[in-house]
Amino acid sequence: MTPKDQKPKAKDPKTPLAWVRPNIRALAPYSTARDDYKGGAIDTWLDANESPYPSGVNRYPDPRQKALKKQIAQLKGVTPQQTFIGNGSDEAIDLCYRIFCRPGKDNAVAITPSYGMYRVGADINDVKLREVELNPDFSLPVDRLLEAADENTRLMWICSPNNPTANAFPIAQIEELLERFDGMVIVDEAYVDFSDQGSILPLLDKHPNLIVLQTLSKAWGMAALRLGLAFGAEQVMELFGRVKYPYNISAIVQDTVARLLDSEDKAAHVAEIKAERDRLAEAIRPLPCVLEVYPSDANFLLVKVTDPNAIYDRLIDEGVIVRDRSRMPLCHGCLRITIGTPHENKKVISILSTIPG
Ligand SMILES: *Cc1c(COP(=O)(O)O)cnc(C)c1O
Repeated sequence: MTPKDQKPKAKDPKTPLAWVRPNIRALAPYSTARDDYKGGAIDTWLDANESPYPSGVNRYPDPRQKALKKQIAQLKGVTPQQTFIGNGSDEAIDLCYRIFCRPGKDNAVAITPSYGMYRVGADINDVKLREVELNPDFSLPVDRLLEAADENTRLMWICSPNNPTANAFPIAQIEELLERFDGMVIVDEAYVDFSDQGSILPLLDKHPNLIVLQTLSKAWGMAALRLGLAFGAEQVMELFGRVKYPYNISAIVQDTVARLLDSEDKAAHVAEIKAERDRLAEAIRPLPCVLEVYPSDANFLLVKVTDPNAIYDRLIDEGVIVRDRSRMPLCHGCLRITIGTPHENKKVISILSTIPG
C-alpha cells in the first residue's frame, strides 16, 4: 500500500482533535482558586482574595457554570459535557477560530449572504474567509462549498435558518457536508425555534465534526443578558472550556438565566411571532411597493421592495427602524423586517400601504 492510499479519506471517521491548533492542544488552562475544591462543608472562604463582606456579588461565580449547564443540557437533550455557555454567540464564533485556525495559515468557508460575525471573527484572527454565494433561490450550494475548501480549511459556517435570507436548509444537505468535509461544520441555529424543520442537535452523537450554535437572544427574549450556547463532541467542548476566559459568565447572568428558563412565556411568544410573521407576509405581499416577500423560518421577513432607500427613510420618519440588506449578495432591493408585537406589525403595514409602487 502506498502512503497515498493511507491518507485519510472523506469517508474516514472524523477526528476533530487532528484539526486543533497545536498550541491549543497543548494548553494548560488557568486554574482558578475553586478548581481544586471538590465539595465538602466549607464555611470559611479564604482562597480567592475576595472581600469577605456580603454584597450579593462579592464571591467569584462558578467558572464551569455547572448548575446552568445541567439545566440547559437537560432542556436540549444533550449532556453537560457536550455544552458550552458563552458571552453571546460571538464568544463561541471567536473560539471556533482561536481553537481550530492557525492565524495567517488556515482558512474557513462560509455561505453568503449570511451573518456578519463569521467575517469579523475571521478578520480578527487573521483567517481567510472564503465566501460562497447561495444559489439564486437561496438554497445551499453543497458542491460549491466543498469545492471552496482545501487542505487548510478548518471551518465551514452554515447558518440555518439563515440570516438574512430567512430560510432553513434541509438537514440531509447539512449532513452531506458533515460527511464530505474534512473539518468542523458549524451550524448556527440562532433562529431554530421559529422553524418547523427543527434542530440538527439530535445528530450530535453521530458527527464529531459538528458544532451547533444557539442563543438566548432571540426566541428566549434575553438579548441583554448575552448568553450564547454551543454544542459539540465532548472533546471539542472541553477545548472551548479550556480556551474561554475563566469567568466568562457573571453570577448575575447565571442566576437570571436559570430563573427565566423556567418561565412559561417562551412557547407562547414563539407561537405568536410565527402567526404574526405569516399575517404580516400576507398583508404586505399585495402592496404596490412590495415586489417579493420571501418564505421565512425565522422571526423576520426579507422583503424586496421597489425603492429600499426611500422606503427605509420613510419608515424612519414614522419612527420604525428596519435593516437595509439591499447591498448584500442576492438581496438587491431587500429590507429585513423583524416581527414585532401585533400593534407594531400593524404600524408597518399601514405605513407601507401608503407608499405608491
Ligand atoms: C442574532 C444572531 C445571533 C445571536 O448572537 P448573540 O451574540 O448570541 O446575541 C447568532 N447568529 C445569528 C445568525 C444571528 O442572527
